[in-house]
Amino acid sequence: MADPLYLDYAATTPVDERVLEAMWPYFTEEFGNASSSTHVFGWRVSEAVQVAREQVSALIGCIPEELIFTSGATESCNLALRGVADSYASKGNHIITCATEHRAVLDTCSALEKKGMQITVLHTDQHGRFDMKQLKEAITPQTILIACMHANNETGVLHPVAEIGKLAKEKGILFFCDATQSVGKIPVNVETLQADLLAFAAHKFYGPKGIGALYVRRKNPRVQLISQITGGGHERNLRSGTLNVPGIVGFGKAAMLAVDEMQKEAERLSSLRLRMETIFRNELKTTINGSETDRLPTISNCCFHLQNPSRMMGGLVQIAAISSGSACSSASQTPSHVLTAMGLSEAEIKSSVRFSLGRKTDADSFGPTLNKMVHFLKELQKEEGIKP
Ligand SMILES: *Cc1c(COP(=O)(O)O)cnc(C)c1O
Repeated sequence: MADPLYLDYAATTPVDERVLEAMWPYFTEEFGNASSSTHVFGWRVSEAVQVAREQVSALIGCIPEELIFTSGATESCNLALRGVADSYASKGNHIITCATEHRAVLDTCSALEKKGMQITVLHTDQHGRFDMKQLKEAITPQTILIACMHANNETGVLHPVAEIGKLAKEKGILFFCDATQSVGKIPVNVETLQADLLAFAAHKFYGPKGIGALYVRRKNPRVQLISQITGGGHERNLRSGTLNVPGIVGFGKAAMLAVDEMQKEAERLSSLRLRMETIFRNELKTTINGSETDRLPTISNCCFHLQNPSRMMGGLVQIAAISSGSACSSASQTPSHVLTAMGLSEAEIKSSVRFSLGRKTDADSFGPTLNKMVHFLKELQKEEGIKP
């Protein structure tokens, strides 16, 4: 049987051929260590890293010196949260975050809580939206950091990060934004967002796995972090370890392509998504989980309201590679904490599916897949007497 159509781009994306092309030489001929300053093998590679650092910086509007390369977004989130908690301990011990954050943020906050930090987890409304009033009320003189994601990875819902950044600045609190889902798909600019720290990873936008970055503001204010991985002093002493040069070169190329292609791609994919949601709504009983206006163009989280959804996933995954939410929550089989925080019942969560579209989703393959999914879901809803 043919593979199902891949509609899980929010979990990860394939490496773009042009990215792979750029990476190849750095596995073989250009194998030097970027820190080897005594010979040409090191110099050439160090030059390539610098070019990539500029390309990635251009994607988020920072200066190259403000980027710390890491192994991915999870590590970047850890460095941001733990690095701030350690460095600003004398200033305060309170961090504010949100219930719909990625596990990389929530579980790191829990770990910090066990070490004595105070953590406030803000709720969202039923559309997954963030409440600025609640945030204002949660701030205390002890607050050192607000950690809030840009786009949610399960629903695509966008948070008012520019407003959060502005408030944080006014209060003299640092703002850390997990922008892993939005970078490369919609414009992200650290000045517009007023972010002091920003995490993202290459594999969410057609770069390789195992490489990510943390933006660390150098001016107004200059953010001080305590490094969590110590050793040779790489990355301005914030992240020791020999640089992943092929990964970094691929990251740079992926960033460059995103800058060039993001807008057209966003328009194309949001029109495919609109088509999908329109067909779902016309043919089936469907609700969209999350704000429909403030959303990434690539994600649609739909609830199909089945009383007995046990056969739904099994049937759908034969047609399309989709998931019930994040890849992490499907690994642990627990109901999505994001949809739970939005107030969905367990039955509604089990009837919900995340569809995420990407560069290889074209109208030709998408149309027939969509028809098959609708046909299958219609049968299930008919059995339960559910009408569109
Ligand atoms: C994917 C993702 C992460 C984790 O990224 P890794 O590359 O797995 O470390 C963190 N936050 C968000 C919002 C994500 O989508």
